[in-house]
Amino acid sequence: MNWYLKYRPKNIKELGLTSVRQTLAKLLAGPEFPHAFLLAGPRGLGKTSTARIIAQYVNCQTPQEVGVPCGQCPSCQLFKQKTVIDVIEMDAASNRSVDDIRQLRSAVGLAPSQLKYKVYIIDEAHMLTREAFNALLKTLEEPPSHVIFILATTEIQKVPETIKSRCQIIEYHLATLEELTQTLKQVAKTEKLEVTGKELKLIAARARGSFRDAIKIMERLAEKNKLNSQLLNQLAQTDNFIDQLSTALRDRNIPQSISLLDKLNGTSYPARDLIYQLEDRFNQLLSTYQQFSPKELDYYQQLVRILLEASTNFSEPISTYLSLKAALLNLDEGKSFPSQIPQENKKEMKIPSSIKPSLKSKEEKKNVNPHFTLQGVKKAWPKLAKSSLELNHGLKNILEAAELTSVEGNILYLSVAYSFQRDLLEKSHIRQWLEKKLSQLLNQKQVGLIISVDTSLRNKQARTVSKTRTSASRDSRLDILMS
Ligand SMILES: [Zn+2]
Repeated sequence: MNWYLKYRPKNIKELGLTSVRQTLAKLLAGPEFPHAFLLAGPRGLGKTSTARIIAQYVNCQTPQEVGVPCGQCPSCQLFKQKTVIDVIEMDAASNRSVDDIRQLRSAVGLAPSQLKYKVYIIDEAHMLTREAFNALLKTLEEPPSHVIFILATTEIQKVPETIKSRCQIIEYHLATLEELTQTLKQVAKTEKLEVTGKELKLIAARARGSFRDAIKIMERLAEKNKLNSQLLNQLAQTDNFIDQLSTALRDRNIPQSISLLDKLNGTSYPARDLIYQLEDRFNQLLSTYQQFSPKELDYYQQLVRILLEASTNFSEPISTYLSLKAALLNLDEGKSFPSQIPQENKKEMKIPSSIKPSLKSKEEKKNVNPHFTLQGVKKAWPKLAKSSLELNHGLKNILEAAELTSVEGNILYLSVAYSFQRDLLEKSHIRQWLEKKLSQLLNQKQVGLIISVDTSLRNKQARTVSKTRTSASRDSRLDILMS
């Protein structure tokens, strides 16, 4: 038997996802439990196992504790010997017609023959036809007390609201590295496999949040009571590239990020895995957001947007790599962040010691007009703010309240008090207009803007607004909503 089947969870305590374990423990604790469940989430996270556990638990005559069937009583024996006929598993992909559901409905009325509850497990429920859903709905509205429905789906958005509202929904999210490592540890222990924590992490990192994949990878690597070192090295090499890539991305070292993307692409590393890995690392990084400057935070937000977009728009692996690269080029300001991570974290994130300036920054330097200075920009700013009225009414107030922080090369750094103000300035037509206008006013060939949010400006703005309240100045936020 393959390991994934062998190590299928047999009670809710063995479920790998913490949130699912906790939700089920609450739902099953009382004497009354829901008669319709909808288990929703990606593959490989144990939805089918959960359904079977619920079916066995509600029928167990002497459960050990909440969510843990005894495994000994006559009902549990039926499950063990796979001779249960009152638990009906159907795959909606092949039983999706209204006739299938009608048949189900007429059978639902009949009392269970062996167990207390008849349990219907409908997998891939989103595949049912509309008519089939309507037929099912009638049963879900008034289910006989001896029936429990457990629907499972990977695409909850395709399940009609009317069905969802009658079910207790349990959501499955991709497993975290920690959850995967815990599950792998258990399997390794039972298989008497010698494996280090680092190796477990390496395998977990390749599993894209799926318990099934994690266990399969470990089984593939296992040789007697050890892991095959050659295969392990291959894993370690790509993992090292990803470490370097996340560090380069974090430091806004775009040239190096691009070159690492090429290396990974060269090892045929799946783009989907890459995005998952990066999302996981930036998710952790952003938890420590207090240590970043507004400029860095601004950049990370853009980066996360790019990753999220990539994870929702998967196409061929090569195009994912390509679109990532294209998006990153937009973030290249030819300059990396000085690293601010404490020493211990640095070791783990493997920060490259030398950060080479990109070609672009050298070129830009050549093109910089010596009169393009902070002072010069400040002087031209009121004029720019005034002419912005032609574009958008809310813009003038925002520009006047913005703080011009510095000019580096042909880049102007400025801060605004609120993120909605930054979002407005970053709208592409507005940003283009600002950059063009600035370049005209200051006779600078090309101007770039880096806009960050500085909350300390809020007090200052509040004071200005109260002073000018009488001069009919309208709230800039209102203007934006109207524009
Ligand atoms: Zn039992």
